[in-house]
Amino acid sequence: MTHAFSQLAPNLDDIARQGLYRSRRIIASPQGINLEIDGRKLINFCSNDYLGLANHPDVVNAFKSGVDQYGVGSGSAHLICGHSVAHHALEEELAAFTGRDRVLLFSTGYMANIGVISALLGRGDAVFEDRLNHASLLDGGLLSGARFKRYAHAGLADLEANLNKAAGNKLIVTDGVFSMDGDFAPLDELAAAAKNHDAWLMVDDAHGLGVIGEHGGGILEHYGLGQDDVPVLMGTLGKGFGTFGAFVAGSEALIETLIQKARTYIYTTALPAAVCEATRASLKIVIEESWRRNKLKQLSERFRLGAEQLGLQVMASASAIQPILIGDSQKAVDISNALLNAGFLVSAIRPPTVPQGSARLRVTFSALHEQQHVDRLLDALAKIIVGRK
Ligand SMILES: *Cc1c(COP(=O)(O)O)cnc(C)c1O
Repeated sequence: MTHAFSQLAPNLDDIARQGLYRSRRIIASPQGINLEIDGRKLINFCSNDYLGLANHPDVVNAFKSGVDQYGVGSGSAHLICGHSVAHHALEEELAAFTGRDRVLLFSTGYMANIGVISALLGRGDAVFEDRLNHASLLDGGLLSGARFKRYAHAGLADLEANLNKAAGNKLIVTDGVFSMDGDFAPLDELAAAAKNHDAWLMVDDAHGLGVIGEHGGGILEHYGLGQDDVPVLMGTLGKGFGTFGAFVAGSEALIETLIQKARTYIYTTALPAAVCEATRASLKIVIEESWRRNKLKQLSERFRLGAEQLGLQVMASASAIQPILIGDSQKAVDISNALLNAGFLVSAIRPPTVPQGSARLRVTFSALHEQQHVDRLLDALAKIIVGRK
């Protein structure tokens, strides 16, 4: 006789045999380019804190005075008694920053994506998603009950063929900057396809907002697109902004619909107000300090050029995400461990986060890195992957 859940341990063994076992590293320092793990100091190349704001003194101080003013817990959901002056001010500042009518805060990006897609679509509608979209977008599409179609990565022809066959309300959903590849979605073409087929376009710009574009306006600034072209813009606050949370920006009707219908907005506790005060401080830095974006670009380009010269397989990325394609999962893990021993933290990304056979080192940069950090990482990669002495 077999017992309930007796397959758990053997399943874990299977995951390990495929080189897909995931485990956590325990960090003993603040976020930044230097991390302390198990008493060792490592140079960090895997954070999404691209602008180096997670431990910025202005952001930390705003958080502390936010706690003095509001305490820690927000007490309830936004619609009960959890929506403070700090939440509201941040929404208005993000609306001005994105050039949109209104903004609604969510507690996480995962929840924002699930909430928006489910609020906009139901049975009889259709959602179209890039094959490489973030898991939260895929889950949002599946949960919505709409007809769910994935199209080839950046594949306009594939998308248009599917759009032609669809009925009901149509929503095209894409990452702005693809999180595991670093390339940009072809947003100008997607926006045109959406208009041609009376569909809406939704962009998740978790890795673009604050980081891409002269003013940090993200992928939409890069393409010069606005609310008419991309009615639904989602952004996260735990990456370029260095804090925590997420938001959706768009028209009055969109935001009111989300307040009435998005279940991951209605049925969850609001972010702590102090986190919003911290984000207001980081938004100010994002707007004022374009040197962070410029430096990030220089560092990423320096790395990319160096990696190409070493014969490493870089990917088509113009962002601070510069993956090195390895292929085999166990090999990617072995290289990541060798880098760790050499003092560098670089994460190995494996299936199912990326497609089978495309395990990679996901190297990311921060505005706090210096050229010498990039050069030291390249030296380590030359030794470990290329076998150079
Ligand atoms: C990180 C990420 C999310 C999730 O945001 P959280 O605030 O971390 O939940 C959503 N979409 C993309 C593309 C992401 O990279």
